[in-house]
Amino acid sequence: MSGFRDIYGHEKTIAHLKSAIVLDQVSHAYLISGDEGMGKKTLARAFAQTLQCENLQMAVRETGRPAADDPAWKRIDACGLCGSCKQAVSGNQADILTWPHEKPKLFSVDDARGLVEDIQIRPFSGRYKIYIVPDAQMMNAQAQNALLKTLEEPPEYAVLLLLTTNPDAMLETIRSRCVLLDLKPVEDALVRQYLTEQCDIPEYEADICEAFAQGNIGKAVSLAASEDFRETMGRAVRILTHIRDWDLEEISAEVKDLVPYKLRIDDLLDLFAVWYRDVLYFKATRELDGIIFREQTSAVRKAAQESSYEGIQTILDAIRKAKERLNANVSFELTIELLLLTMKEN
Ligand SMILES: [Zn+2]
Repeated sequence: MSGFRDIYGHEKTIAHLKSAIVLDQVSHAYLISGDEGMGKKTLARAFAQTLQCENLQMAVRETGRPAADDPAWKRIDACGLCGSCKQAVSGNQADILTWPHEKPKLFSVDDARGLVEDIQIRPFSGRYKIYIVPDAQMMNAQAQNALLKTLEEPPEYAVLLLLTTNPDAMLETIRSRCVLLDLKPVEDALVRQYLTEQCDIPEYEADICEAFAQGNIGKAVSLAASEDFRETMGRAVRILTHIRDWDLEEISAEVKDLVPYKLRIDDLLDLFAVWYRDVLYFKATRELDGIIFREQTSAVRKAAQESSYEGIQTILDAIRKAKERLNANVSFELTIELLLLTMKEN
């Protein structure tokens, strides 16, 4: 289908776009900002497909201007069945263009000029001609200036969807001519729903990826698919469930073993922190429901018995300090050894 209905979260932004459609006030330019993985492209594609849907005008006529909570809003969406929708889903809708940039890290003035030229050609069949521009943050000032005239006097059929991870990288003259849509993190429950419904991720892994992704579905999906992340997770669980029984020699051996993990150490430390927050949570509430390491409940329970509140807090502080030290380039082995000893003793 790939309309608004397939998007998880971003309800306010979607409501804004739908009411622009209903009121026939679709802007010529939108600046959609949000971190990598936040859903900018998905949203832009859904909006473009909806605008081009052959059944949209019928839906708009039939629903009129529904009140804010009217379920009729659901009808303001791509139908998924018409010729245009089918082409849009397969990436072959001639009036929906994703505009590339030639160089990997730069959207150059030539890329912008190409767009400016192309936009003068009338749409092939639909009412709109829509340009999705990923990586707008890579436009230098010349490229943005090349676009400016088009934004000032756009052809009536043109809709530009500029996607950016950094809206501040855009010139004020560009920003002021765009409708700004800033994508916010979605609720954890939605991240999790996406992982379990769309990616067949087992619940236990979905919990951990959700905790890590902080409302970013794209990040959650890439974590769930990442072998590195799974391996790090396995490693973290092994350390966390054994650390109190290890002697100094075993701890030193573990530290040496962790050296190849240097680049992924932040993930490992974050997993440690999630674990000790689980322990703290269980200790305080005796409830297993809110726990993220759900496959390790007996180990979490055991840790909650063995450690005092102060002890757990000391460990959480030590994890934070270890991160700071590593960022400040203090010796990796020394920092991790100190941390593991703190985890053993508290
Ligand atoms: Zn359609």
